[in-house]
Amino acid sequence: MNTMNNQEDIVIVGGGPAGLSAAINGIIRGYRVSVLDGGATKLSRAERIDNYLGLPGVTGMEIMKAFEDHALSLGVTIIRGKATNVFSMGQQYMVGYGSEVLTARAVILATGALRSKAVEGEEEFLGKGVSYCATCDGMLYRGKKAVVYGLAADAAEEANYLAGIGVQIVYVNPGPRPKELREDVEWQQGTLQSIQGDSAVKAVEIKGENDVKIEAQGVFLLRDAVAPQAMVSGLEIDKGFIMVNKEMKTNLPGLFACGDCTGQPLQISKAAGEGLIAGQEAAKYLDSLS
Ligand SMILES: Cc1cc2nc3c(=O)[nH]c(=O)nc-3n(C[C@H](O)[C@H](O)[C@H](O)COP(=O)(O)OP(=O)(O)OC[C@H]3O[C@@H](n4cnc5c(N)ncnc54)[C@H](O)[C@@H]3O)c2cc1C
Repeated sequence: MNTMNNQEDIVIVGGGPAGLSAAINGIIRGYRVSVLDGGATKLSRAERIDNYLGLPGVTGMEIMKAFEDHALSLGVTIIRGKATNVFSMGQQYMVGYGSEVLTARAVILATGALRSKAVEGEEEFLGKGVSYCATCDGMLYRGKKAVVYGLAADAAEEANYLAGIGVQIVYVNPGPRPKELREDVEWQQGTLQSIQGDSAVKAVEIKGENDVKIEAQGVFLLRDAVAPQAMVSGLEIDKGFIMVNKEMKTNLPGLFACGDCTGQPLQISKAAGEGLIAGQEAAKYLDSLS
């Protein structure tokens, strides 16, 4: 990981309606705010939105552009990147993405609802062969065999990177072989059923046109979203959603959450409203530290 630290007051993970609402409310209170966003929110696919107050019939693309323009006009920094880990260093949080790190005294999680279920063995072997980040952990598998389970848009690129540094890759995905994948990378169609091992990963089971078991020491699970409990150690979760109180505080000091990632209803107004509270409460928290 790059040792260069980009110091912010508040880092927000997720640039959908919740994250951007939190961002404008943090910056209005006079704090430096960066939003780290892994890619377009699924909201941009909405063809027509009829229940957002004052903007009947707006498309998802239009409303997201308005939200982003608003945040940028106030001086919010939006960084494209996927956070893979958030960890506390006393009064600071470090947010890792790719080979970079952002540092902030308050962090707001606004990562949206997780739409994929964990694979059997994923949590058990996290850090013992299971990784969510090729750039962060790739070197550990140099000269070894690893499976890349590619569900994210940039997964083939990540697999090429791993192959380039000397990891022996088998690329697995449910669809056809990605065009971007290097020709010398072995490919297997299928879905990942389970990760097996003892003290560390030893093999994975794939279900597909041909069910196979692949022996490997590493598994890179490359999805668009990372489960919050995998990103933040010790974070309390209830039925897949981050537990928060009315001030959008999680169980960890200085760490807030808002929007779809905290639970139902999964709607824009709720996300924007919770973002407002999280942004204001993060600012209050920072006031209390100074
Ligand atoms: C097709 C469709 C139609 C919809 N129609 C409506 C409607 O008409 N009305 C309505 O109110 N709601 C509608 N919704 C629901 C609405 O989109 C959500 O409730 C809203 O977008 C939630 O906002 P959010 O900011 O919490 O999460 P999201 O909008 O999901 O944004 C989360 C963001 O976080 C990013 N992210 C996730 N993990 C990471 C990570 N580890 N690092 C960095 N970034 C990360 C994602 O890339 C994403 O950009 C619709 C949803 C869909 C898919």
